[in-house]
Amino acid sequence: MDTILVVNAGSSSVKFQVFAVDNDGRLSRQIKGQVDGVGSRPRLRASGAAGDKLADRAYPIQNIQDVPAALRVAGEWLRDEQQVVPLAVGHRVVHGGPDYDRSVLVDHNVVSRLDRYSMLAPLHQPHNLAPIRSLLANFPSLPQVACFDTAFHRDHDDVADYYAIPRRLHAEGVRRYGFHGLSYEYIAKTLPKVAPEIASGRVIVAHLGSGASMCALRGGRSVESTMGFTALDGLPMGTRPGQIDPGVLLYLASTKGMSASEVQDFLYRECGLKGLSGISNDMRELQSSGEPEAAFAVEYFVYRAALNAGMLAAALQGVDAFVFTAGIGENSVSIRARIAERLGWLGVDLDPLENGRHAFQISRAGTTPVYVIPTDEELMIAQHTLSLLWSRYSSAKTREQVS
Ligand code: ADP
Repeated sequence: MDTILVVNAGSSSVKFQVFAVDNDGRLSRQIKGQVDGVGSRPRLRASGAAGDKLADRAYPIQNIQDVPAALRVAGEWLRDEQQVVPLAVGHRVVHGGPDYDRSVLVDHNVVSRLDRYSMLAPLHQPHNLAPIRSLLANFPSLPQVACFDTAFHRDHDDVADYYAIPRRLHAEGVRRYGFHGLSYEYIAKTLPKVAPEIASGRVIVAHLGSGASMCALRGGRSVESTMGFTALDGLPMGTRPGQIDPGVLLYLASTKGMSASEVQDFLYRECGLKGLSGISNDMRELQSSGEPEAAFAVEYFVYRAALNAGMLAAALQGVDAFVFTAGIGENSVSIRARIAERLGWLGVDLDPLENGRHAFQISRAGTTPVYVIPTDEELMIAQHTLSLLWSRYSSAKTREQVS
């Protein structure tokens, strides 16, 4: 069986999925797994296509001390126990910087270019690149593809992507990029199949997970996003503040004497729902807490989400539909209801029964359609990987025929 391995590596975990490729190039998910607790309590868990458990085992800490070691363990398990030897590996890479507006086959040169963007995504990029490097070293002939969260947003007009700072900085790459692009691309590709009447219209997609952002789609293309140069801007997130006056950072540096790396750590790890509530970065925990600070953090999240939707509605000059996706967007009935309540002025009116049962369409008939669409970033990565593999294969074939 031909397979594509998809890897999403974080700071303490590696999530992976295996897709089978049939003769017509169709992909079907076979295995979903992760190695988490890297460097603390490593554990490999995996399930099959039907959710059947394939593995759940703990490892001694010294066996899995870093992300490449986690990928090695997953790779050995896949090869030895599942007989999976992938044709290629597709990686989620958060930042493609100014250089990459689409997925790319990786070599050492590409990795060193991508490494330059590590400071723009310090929580993700170094961890995304670590397994790529280790596979390049150990399996140099295995094709690897980097798929970027920024790529889908690269068609924006200049007016959406410039900051009002001297233009030479834009030329250096200091500009708005936008993130969660693989998720938005999946939604944009799904809409024509599930809601063809609105797919070519103006749609606001809310990707509400631990990281949260919104994207304005026109005719299936991203025209505006709430995130910018880094994944810090826009909506409040689990541990990131979202939009914040840069003056606050100057205040922290000058009055509190915080260094650049302390400010960075603060912005990525100490703010958002966690900072506001002082309780948790996890929406479920906040919703089940009776503390007023938890309730305030949830209210802040809802308020800012609706505020940002208003901004995107202005970018689109109106809205034909809304989509909720990711952990909070797909699962929280009450957050959807509360955001929607604030969007009544845009014609939004949810049907509580449909919302309560997580239906595909949760709006009342005759109002602005609101959909819940589970995202599938891994499928997008597998598709990009396969299509780059095909183009490499066909250009090799053409070269053979020419010579
Ligand atoms: P990521 O992939 O960015 O880690 P997810 O998309 O998995 O994040 O979303 C995680 C967030 O979704 C967490 O804040 C979690 O509490 C929230 N979440 C998941 N299920 C629910 C639910 N039923 N109600 C409210 N929040 C939920």
